[in-house]
Amino acid sequence: MRDMAQIRNIVILSGAGISAESGLRTFRADDGLWDDHRVEDVATPEAFRRDPDLVQRFYDERRANIMAAQPNAAHHALARLDREWPAELLIVTQNIDDLHERAGAGRVLHMHGEGLSAWCSACDARHHWTGTLRDKPPCPACGARALRPDIVWFGEMPYRMDEIFAALSRADLFVSIGTSGAVYPAAGFVEQAKSCGARTLELNLERSQGSHWFDETRLGPASERVPEWVEDALGGRPC
Ligand SMILES: [Zn+2]
Repeated sequence: MRDMAQIRNIVILSGAGISAESGLRTFRADDGLWDDHRVEDVATPEAFRRDPDLVQRFYDERRANIMAAQPNAAHHALARLDREWPAELLIVTQNIDDLHERAGAGRVLHMHGEGLSAWCSACDARHHWTGTLRDKPPCPACGARALRPDIVWFGEMPYRMDEIFAALSRADLFVSIGTSGAVYPAAGFVEQAKSCGARTLELNLERSQGSHWFDETRLGPASERVPEWVEDALGGRPC
């Protein structure tokens, strides 16, 4: 047990489990399918080269689903923690939706990209995007019809890893929420935080493959476990 008074810097990793409770489906590791598509058909650079139309349609649909979804109690609790926590805090999310932001969180880093962002492969500009891309609209910056989803596909390097590891090395507490812990590099975050002296807490629906790395695991839906934990943290109770 570590008293919250000793805890200043917090890094939170949020994953699919937190978005699932808002109705957003993601890639399922157990059968390798994402909304009935094989991942290698829709979420790799090779798939985009082979069949850009299929990939654009797939992400056009993801984008529409994101805009139709609403933040849940877990997103709202983390937004409250972000507002009220006086020291360093970083929410690293594997999710491509903007539900953390729509709940009001500001300190959010999207390591796997953003569904509501389009990236121009001609001029490297990124644009907030709510429409479709399958009709090949021109890039608002350079006019090239070269926009792709701003998503880190399988086989591509996650965004801002230096920043994430720097935050992990300063963390007093690392909290993993709704993620299987099965996919590197995210699976290595708990090891990094622990080796730098952080306390580690897992909030998940079920025990994950990485559970043995955590000092404590609390099982249950994110919409219940996260608000409870945020209440504890802001109340200064041990965690
Ligand atoms: Zn451009």
